[in-house]
Amino acid sequence: MANTSTLDKGNLYRLPWSMNDNPIGWIEVTDICNIHCEGCYRLILGDGHKPLQQIKEEILFLKKWRNCDGISLAGGEPFLHPAIIEIIQFITDNGMKSVMLTNGYALNEEKLINLRKAGLTGLSFHVDSTQTRPEFNKEKIENEAQLNDLRLKFAKLVKKCGISYAHFGMTVNRNNLVEVPDFIKWAIDNVDYVNGVSLITYRGLPDLDGLEYCTDKGNNVSVNANTLGYAFPAETMNIANVPSQEVYSMIKKHFPGYEATSYLGGTMDHTSFKWLIGNLITNNNGHIFGAYGKKTMEWVQVMHHILKSKYLVYPRMKLGKNIFFMSFFDKEVRKAFKNYLLYCLANPVRFFHPVKAMGVGVIQGPDILPDGTVDMCDDCPDMCVHEGKLVNSCRLDECRKFGSMLHMHVNSDNAREILTEHHQHGK
Ligand code: SF4
Repeated sequence: MANTSTLDKGNLYRLPWSMNDNPIGWIEVTDICNIHCEGCYRLILGDGHKPLQQIKEEILFLKKWRNCDGISLAGGEPFLHPAIIEIIQFITDNGMKSVMLTNGYALNEEKLINLRKAGLTGLSFHVDSTQTRPEFNKEKIENEAQLNDLRLKFAKLVKKCGISYAHFGMTVNRNNLVEVPDFIKWAIDNVDYVNGVSLITYRGLPDLDGLEYCTDKGNNVSVNANTLGYAFPAETMNIANVPSQEVYSMIKKHFPGYEATSYLGGTMDHTSFKWLIGNLITNNNGHIFGAYGKKTMEWVQVMHHILKSKYLVYPRMKLGKNIFFMSFFDKEVRKAFKNYLLYCLANPVRFFHPVKAMGVGVIQGPDILPDGTVDMCDDCPDMCVHEGKLVNSCRLDECRKFGSMLHMHVNSDNAREILTEHHQHGK
């Protein structure tokens, strides 16, 4: 079992986001993609590119009902949408930021410059070893480190085109969990180009004997790799379901200066950490001074809401050494400031070197509990619009394919035992 002794909700700030006051909204502009990722949430159902008018209506819906600071553009691969520049311009004209979630394959300098001119705030890249990538001639990618050159190429291109935010995501399963520290180390070593990383723990719906799925109308449906992109065979449960606490422990073990600032819990399980947000304070030499603490995150969220009437996401401003002013309120930053002073006193030239922040987020998607209920992210930030309603984007395909999110019924002791065992991993 992981050592989770220092991960305590009392030491973290519970992000104040809610259904109607949430800085993030999610729009899927296409279901077409140019590569394949294992466990992708999206099925290609033939919907293709969403019409521009519908996308504009969804943007206005999210602005009205979510009070968004930023819109995440996802898919499929959003770069493939022929009206992507107009979409970004429309978001900018409506006073919101835009971040594109991309696999990066279709990127080039000319397109990025045009997107920046339309107001694109940043890019969040999904580049990891669960993918089949054309850059590798579709050969199997053996480990995360193999992808670092490609990641860096994308990050440098983003900076060259004047876009302020480059973020990288990795899907974490039990096989690649040990590679998480190297991935973070790579990001820290390239902090001039990389603003943050997300570690998304692999989740899905298991095709498990004794676990039945049915729609709102009570119709039983078959869930397997042919009917839902995020369904997986029961055996795959052994590599899925790594809890966020375990990822946190892995990070903490290799980067003792790391600390999380804030979290979102679960809708059903009061012990869950569904979103765990942290910010390392570091420099260009890969030296870690410490991390933001909960007071800094609270101050940032509250002040932004007071001044702009909405919570903050995708900050454009780089704080640099100004972060140390938070030492007055935040004991974690105070610790980092002491480390920084000691580091600079050992060689005063270091006072002239910049200080940078590196975001490290952990996301643990839906968990099926032993009684068949589903523990989702409390006040889910990644909600999208489907047929006039807000739905969790990670389960959108259940609505698209079956007309509603599915309900689970556990009909055998064996299935209950397996779900119990997997749920206990993180406790
Ligand atoms: S519940 Fe929301 S935030 Fe959590 S994984 Fe699903 S879409 Fe993402």
